[in-house]
Amino acid sequence: MVSDPTRLTAAALAEALVAGELSAVEATQAHLDRIAAVDDDVHAFLQVDAEGALAAARDIDEQRAAGAPLGPLAGVPIAVKDVVATKGLTTTAGSKILEGWVPPYDATLVTRLRAAGLPILGKTNMDEFAMGSSTEHSAYGPTHNPWSLDRIPGGSGGGSAAAVAAYEAPLAIGTDTGGSIRQPASVTGTVGVKPTYGGVSRYGLIALASSLDQAGPCTRSVLDAALLQTVIGGHDPMDSTSINAPVPPVVEAARRGDVSGMRIGVIKEISGEGFAPQVRARFTESLALLEKAGAEIVEVSCPSFEKGLAAYYLILPSEASSNLAKFDAMRYGLRVAPKGVESPSAEQVMAATRDAGFGDEVKRRIILGTYALSSGYYDAYYGQAQKVRTLIARDFAAAFEQADVLVTPTAPTVAFKLGEKLDDPMAMYLNDVATIPANLAGVPGLSLPNGLAEDGLPSGFQVLAPIQADDRLYNVGAALERLLEEQWGGPLLAQAPSLDVKEGVR
Ligand code: GLN
Repeated sequence: MVSDPTRLTAAALAEALVAGELSAVEATQAHLDRIAAVDDDVHAFLQVDAEGALAAARDIDEQRAAGAPLGPLAGVPIAVKDVVATKGLTTTAGSKILEGWVPPYDATLVTRLRAAGLPILGKTNMDEFAMGSSTEHSAYGPTHNPWSLDRIPGGSGGGSAAAVAAYEAPLAIGTDTGGSIRQPASVTGTVGVKPTYGGVSRYGLIALASSLDQAGPCTRSVLDAALLQTVIGGHDPMDSTSINAPVPPVVEAARRGDVSGMRIGVIKEISGEGFAPQVRARFTESLALLEKAGAEIVEVSCPSFEKGLAAYYLILPSEASSNLAKFDAMRYGLRVAPKGVESPSAEQVMAATRDAGFGDEVKRRIILGTYALSSGYYDAYYGQAQKVRTLIARDFAAAFEQADVLVTPTAPTVAFKLGEKLDDPMAMYLNDVATIPANLAGVPGLSLPNGLAEDGLPSGFQVLAPIQADDRLYNVGAALERLLEEQWGGPLLAQAPSLDVKEGVR
């Protein structure tokens, strides 16, 4: 029998449900209780939907009792990042400008979660419009890292990663435009996957940068991520960039986990300098494990990756400034009357609303983006950045001739202290040096925990694969996960300090 359902992986929980060891209602209630117990400290959730989650769970229990055919994750509860539209549930993207906005429709991925019988526990905290690496840019206050409550949980999807790390949810949905699934996974000791661009529908995601955005799984195991990607992935006619092909065989790959004979490429330009000493040490040890398991480690060079960050911070603000133009105080969301103006014009209302509704980071990027796109500077900035993007895609293509997958440390450091980088945008941006190239080229990437580094906090190992070869991520990820867990005697998260013992940090 199950003593504490919140400690199980999604795969184990699903098995227990099938075996009748507990009901979906019991599993969901256990997670709601856990949220009630720890989320005042963690603040992973912006909204909890106990009633909706329990109703969905009850429905699954009834279907199961009636012998209806159910999907592999039916009855396993999930948390959803607040940038994903959920019908009837507030969706704010972490911004004041959307405070209280209730979408009239579900994102395609949410439709698929509901159809597959996953009760939605609630919506998770995030940096405003997914801009950030620490969740401190949320208009609703930061999320705290369950490993150490005075540390950041990563961003922009810190809420989703923290919810999973704190056992508030076995599964969560994140979105990754430059690293917002993988970097939070890295600093919370969890697993995060950005599928191939176009692998999961963007319909119903509040867009940050449409050519980079990709939704994906946040979990505590590689297999769980594969199971979840299979539920949310696949073609969607509502998204014109959706790939019209089946989801790669990710579950089989996650169950296989065999790297013998594989060529694993270490990217020369992003594995050494700029990474904390212990993060590098864990990375080197992971490579040795993979080599012992039969993989061949090769060094590859991707010279253009060094320009990735600069190109990203022109392309992203450009697309974001255009995507955010729709928040005009006219159609939905916040509307603020300009002070001291008797009959304000539409422009004045728009300006007052955007001034009050957007935070500093959002304004910074809108200014940057509109500048880069302005007629006099378009070629010099936006045009140049697009050329770098092409070079990065070529570097990937050349590297994948020499290696089946590429690997890097996911993030340069472990979780830093809340407030530490808040006033230094450049320092904040540097968190994504290793994750951004994948978004620029559309290739898939996975991060899994590979040990404790500085201050006894988790570090992450990133695997990158060619477009539509997501299964390779899971194969390598599962192999390394097994080898590491053999060493640790269980998952890394088991070594996290318990949240049930109040330490007075905060
Ligand atoms: N940290 C990056 C940024 O601030 C990534 C954001 C994301 O992936 N949504 O843009």
